[in-house]
Amino acid sequence: MDFKILETMGHEEVVFCHNPAVGLKAIIAIHNTILGPALGGTRMWAYKNDQDALEDALRLSRGMTYKSAAAGLNFGGGKVVIIGDSKKDKSESLFRALGAFIERMKGQFITGEDVGIDVNDIEFMFMETDYVTGLSKAHGGSGDPSPMTAYGVLQGMLACVEKKFGQKNVNGLTVAVQGLGHVGFRLVELLTKEGAKVIACDADEKSVQIAQEKFKIQIVAPDKIYDVKCDVFAPCALGGILNPKTIPLLKCKVVSGAANNQLRTDLDGELLNKKGILYAPDYVINAGGLINVALELEGYSEDRARLLTRNIYYNLKRTFEISEEQKLPPHIAADRLAEERLDKVGRIRRSHFLDKSKIRRTNFLAEKKKAV
Ligand code: NAD
Repeated sequence: MDFKILETMGHEEVVFCHNPAVGLKAIIAIHNTILGPALGGTRMWAYKNDQDALEDALRLSRGMTYKSAAAGLNFGGGKVVIIGDSKKDKSESLFRALGAFIERMKGQFITGEDVGIDVNDIEFMFMETDYVTGLSKAHGGSGDPSPMTAYGVLQGMLACVEKKFGQKNVNGLTVAVQGLGHVGFRLVELLTKEGAKVIACDADEKSVQIAQEKFKIQIVAPDKIYDVKCDVFAPCALGGILNPKTIPLLKCKVVSGAANNQLRTDLDGELLNKKGILYAPDYVINAGGLINVALELEGYSEDRARLLTRNIYYNLKRTFEISEEQKLPPHIAADRLAEERLDKVGRIRRSHFLDKSKIRRTNFLAEKKKAV
């Protein structure tokens, strides 16, 4: 690694954590702390090599800066990746060792769950550091963030529906939901309550059966979901599903769902735009879970989390405004929304920090003088 890669992507710091006695090899990437301490999950993955792990940490931490900024949170972007197989290589000592590394950063970086990590692993880290979030309710945490993510997706969907169809609710609309997991299931629950007609799929038969029994929805095979004639398509399963193969099949007017990295490349965002499909940028619409875990750090309140998550509706409206004003597709307009806040709020915080450090220094000098 050299400094060029940090310069290109705008990172502040990268920390390599090594503890061979417990088999820990992890990389903490801090992208940006202008708005506040870097916040981002821990991912455990059997990377092919160290370079792949580093690139993932850099890419994901940068994404977190944008996601936090667009969500209106006072957090920056960071991420930690552990090089290892989450099915074989987990141990108490490994997570405690990582917790100790995070503790050394004194709150500059705060972490929670991501791919390959569950709440038990976070509990082990919590034994060595306070700088973790997304703890179980039994430990005073906020618990599973998925219901808040689903609630946020509904708020974002309302902004899309208003823009595209001029209606303020989803009543009577047909929504195709891909994935009936933690978020998808909750989203279907909300949508059916609001009077939408849901057509859904999942690769897992059990999940399909449970959802069908509970909500009496129509089910299609996973590979048929793109062909469904609907008003809104809500991807809630995998990333990369909006691509040159699937986009021509879509028969919806809006794409708004929870999945991360829905566009395979930025060109797919352009493709949707050209097809007249309104796309809700994933990191803006799926921020409910992040808002939930961020609030845990201030003392969790579900009501407050809901209020802040409701703002996803306004964040998407602003994204679409920028899109129109600057003639940009929504996925690029979302980046502008985040950058706008990083710039404007960042300026205020920088001057605020300067004042604070000046005060601290003045007090220090006064104390020194008194001592003399
Ligand atoms: P999950 O693993 O609980 O659910 C995913 C579901 O998708 C599973 O039921 C799985 O069987 C199904 N699936 C997998 N491949 C499929 C396919 N080809 N077709 C149809 N279904 C398929 O995950 P989740 O927590 O519900 O998250 C869903 C998406 O939302 C992920 O992309 C995740 O990164 C993103 N997300 C989740 C949260 C959260 O709070 N959980 C927050 C932000 C973003």
